[in-house]
Amino acid sequence: MSPIKLLVLAILLYLGYRLLTGGKKKDKAERPAAPTEQDDAPIVDVLVEDPVCHKLVPKQQAIRLQHKENIVYFCSEVCCNRFVSQEGEKE
Ligand SMILES: [Zn+2]
Repeated sequence: MSPIKLLVLAILLYLGYRLLTGGKKKDKAERPAAPTEQDDAPIVDVLVEDPVCHKLVPKQQAIRLQHKENIVYFCSEVCCNRFVSQEGEKE
């Protein structure tokens, strides 16, 4: 076998190898994209009124206090403590 034929054979083998591996990569690229995680429902934030300073606070961030039958929401622990002490004075 002449060296040129060997070289051609090597190139053909290399090209065949490239086609095999390259073909697999192309198949992966043509797969449908994974569903994005952007279709999560947006968090609907409800505003609740702080009974101490009457500020409107997003419910998710508000300080919660179980008060008798109701849950009361506060903008901060300061307002919560003030509310508790005010309720204590009433009784
Ligand atoms: Zn407040």
